[in-house]
Amino acid sequence: MDVGICCREVEKRMRRLGLSMSKLKAVFVSHEHSDHIKGLRVLAKKYSLPVFITKPTLQNGRLFLDKHLIVSYTAKEPVTIGELVITAFSKLHDAADPYSFVVSCRGINVGVFTDIGTACKNLVHHFSTCHAAFLESNYDEHMLEVGGYPYYLKKRISGEKGHLSSKQALEIFTTHRPAYMSHLFLSHLSKNNNCPKLVGELFNSHAGEVKIVVASREEETAVFRIELSTTIELSTTEEKHQSTKARQLVLEL
Ligand SMILES: [Zn+2]
Ligand SMILES: [Zn+2]
Repeated sequence: MDVGICCREVEKRMRRLGLSMSKLKAVFVSHEHSDHIKGLRVLAKKYSLPVFITKPTLQNGRLFLDKHLIVSYTAKEPVTIGELVITAFSKLHDAADPYSFVVSCRGINVGVFTDIGTACKNLVHHFSTCHAAFLESNYDEHMLEVGGYPYYLKKRISGEKGHLSSKQALEIFTTHRPAYMSHLFLSHLSKNNNCPKLVGELFNSHAGEVKIVVASREEETAVFRIELSTTIELSTTEEKHQSTKARQLVLEL
């Protein structure tokens, strides 16, 4: 999903996780903002990856992709890549044609939900089906308010087509998480208007059995396996936890 960092940085992070670049089979582009497409052209070309992208996003991103790599998608038709089924849904964000995605495999759903201004019906519906979700927790309302951003930018970020605040994300989590959700990855944190420690504390105090992970802006998040009944964490230090019910290995994030 998206390539907001340069190709070399993607390669570096994959290597540190012990993952081969050959694991990549396709890229889905959510919208044209530069923090989502910066490394796309080079990565797609170098690894000959099909790029699933809508026409308005392609045009507004001024992306000069090789024609034979471009594939269109719609919210109506899920796309199958190997064993994964990717479902797109439209969302509220100030881009030409923005989408978020749910990746499904053998009954497990993993959502990738960032760059969302409002907890719209689509988001709530898909979030409530996820075993794991990568959810935007972009800004702390107080930090944004008292911070140095110009007024118009503060309005844009907090507007209904901007980003989710930590408070909004928490509300989505506490109100709409299904009983079977095992992991919540808080993501797309603002460098200037949020703090990973604050986000971790906020969500952990409401997490119950759900494992809370705050994704870093600077480095890769560990690889997790999401399973129907239980979960194994594969940490970056190769420390592997044996699962009591180690069955149905379904999806790697
Ligand atoms: Zn973004
Ligand atoms: Zn955006």
